[in-house]
This record gives sequence, structure tokens and C-alpha cells, in this order.
Amino acid sequence: MLTKTLTLTQFLIEERRRFPQASGAFNSLVLGVALACKALARRVAHGALSGMYGGVGETNIQGEAQQKLDVLANDTFLHCLQWGGYARGMLSEEMEQPWISEIAGQGDYLLAFDPLDGSSNIDVNLSVGSIFSLLRAPSERKRAETSDFLQPGSQQLAAGYAIYGPATMFVLTVGRGVQGFTLDPEIGEFLLTHPQMTIPAQTKEFAINASNSRFWEPPIRRYVEECLAGSKGPRGKDFNMRWIASLVAEAHRILTRGGVFMYPRDTKDPSKAGRLRLLYEANPIGMLIEQAGGRASTGAGPVMQVQPESAHQRIGFVFGSREEVERIERYHAEGPVAAEEDTPLFNLRGLFRPNS
Ligand code: MN
Ligand code: MN
Repeated sequence: MLTKTLTLTQFLIEERRRFPQASGAFNSLVLGVALACKALARRVAHGALSGMYGGVGETNIQGEAQQKLDVLANDTFLHCLQWGGYARGMLSEEMEQPWISEIAGQGDYLLAFDPLDGSSNIDVNLSVGSIFSLLRAPSERKRAETSDFLQPGSQQLAAGYAIYGPATMFVLTVGRGVQGFTLDPEIGEFLLTHPQMTIPAQTKEFAINASNSRFWEPPIRRYVEECLAGSKGPRGKDFNMRWIASLVAEAHRILTRGGVFMYPRDTKDPSKAGRLRLLYEANPIGMLIEQAGGRASTGAGPVMQVQPESAHQRIGFVFGSREEVERIERYHAEGPVAAEEDTPLFNLRGLFRPNS
């Protein structure tokens, strides 16, 4: 394989040639993330033998049970990325307050990450991953503050994820398309196996947690109902449904063969404006999806245009094949459908009967 393809390091050096003034700090950070991901891939691959299954008896800032691997993953990310002094601050799903470099003004970048995504899937041996977003730190030479992270996703310099599946992959955008690298465990390098990943504009696959259907907003109900109506319905074709309950795994499937993913804002818990986290889940996945020709949305409009208000903010997230996501946004813009109560899938004997 090494005779035919670039390693991640070589790819980053090639990219850097476009910026003769670049210091190498950017590459160092991306390679730091990749190093953390390689270490985690080994731990995950050892399964129960790693002694890392189960919870630590604590809940994180999200109110979710922390797994031992969540804590290890967070420590690994911090350790791999503090070296070099290129990060002025790091925001993690597992830390209420970001890590801030003590040296004022040191480091030109900010990192936000979900060190272990889908960690509830660990014990059942399903794919998990890590997600990261790279932002520029303010030009003013000062210590980082939480508010420095509150930048819209359109400001991201790079984003990516690692997926720890049957193979470990590292999927990256530095703003010029999306590249997929596969870990060669023999030599411990990520090799470029999926250059310029692109999402087909159309699809016959959608992913949503249907157990929440009674809480969905009307445009989502309309969209799903039309998919379920199949070849006899308004879409004129049959759809398949997928649900892995791991954002990285869903994103990876869609980047590979298209589809649409929905975790919309719903009425289940009015205090939460959606389920997924804007800064280290929706924005980085959104950048990858759009760089691959797809679309990333809140359901109503582009997710990467949203001005974040807090570090661990949640948001409704809909992404995937461009035409499908645009259709959902159109249904939002059109407002409630007049005949909604009469639609077959939501009436008394319907499959997804609403709560009313
Ligand atoms: Mn996580
Ligand atoms: Mn996550």
C-alpha cells in the first residue's frame, strides 16, 4: 500500500505547500488528534480485555453516565494536544470548563472535541468514534476564554472524525474536500484510501430514532411519512431506514453511500433544543458533509451559520444528501400542512401516531 498512496502526514505536508508562511502548528495539531485516535483505536480493539468497560459512577456535563473509556479518551486527547503549545484552549464534551493554556497568548488555535462518540455502544461492540473541530484563536494575545469558542461552524479551519469500526479510519477536511484515511495497524500509519469523498445528491435511505416520532416537529413528520409511503406515495420510490445511534457511524455511512440523518429539535424535553452538541458534534460533522457536497442543517437552515451561545449548546441536526435536506428545509419554510391530521401514518391506526 505504501508504494501507491500518501500517508496522513504526507498529505498534510502537501497541503501545507499552499501556505508558504505556515509554521507547521496546524499540521502538528491535526497529527496530535490522529495520534490520540490511534491510541484509542488500540484500546477499543482490545474490548473487555482492556479493563475499560463500564462506567466510572459519575455523570458528565451532559448528564450522561461517564464510561471509563470516555475519561481515558479525554485524557488521551489532552495529553496528545498539549504538547507543542499550539492549542490555546480545548473544549471537550467531558469537561464542563475548557482546558486553557496558562501562558497568555500561546497557541494560535482552539480545539473542540467529542473524545469518544457513541460511548454507550462500547459494551455491545458497535462502532464508536472521536470527533474534532479546529478553530482560530482570537488575534489578541491573551489567555483563551470560553467565549472564544463561540464561533459559527463556518469559521472552522478543519474538522474530522475517527471511526473505530472493523477498520479504523480518519476522515478529514482542511477546507478542500474530504479525505478518508485507513489505519494500517502493521505500520501504525493512516493511509489515504478514500480521496475526495462525495455524497450522492439523492438517496433512498433515511436515519431517525422513530421512538421519538410523537415528539417530532410537523415538517419532520411529513418528510418521514412521505418516505414511508414508498412507491405509492408522493416520493414515488421505496426507502430504507437505518439507525445506529452513533453519530460518527451514521455520518460515515452517509459520506460513503449517501442518505439523510435526522435528530431534529423535538418537544420531548423543551429545555433541550435538540440532542446533539453544536460545537463538537454538529459543526465538525456539518463541515465534512458540506465539503463532500451534502448539506448540514438545523432542519430549518444551515447549521454552520448558527451563532453559538454556550459551549455545550445542543441543536437540532439534519444532514446528508443535498436534495433531501433541502426538501426538509422547504417543509419547514412551508409551515404546517393543512391536512396533517388526515395523513394515514399519523391517524389512530397509523404507524407513527402523534401524541395529540
Ligand atoms: Mn462522547
Ligand atoms: Mn457524541
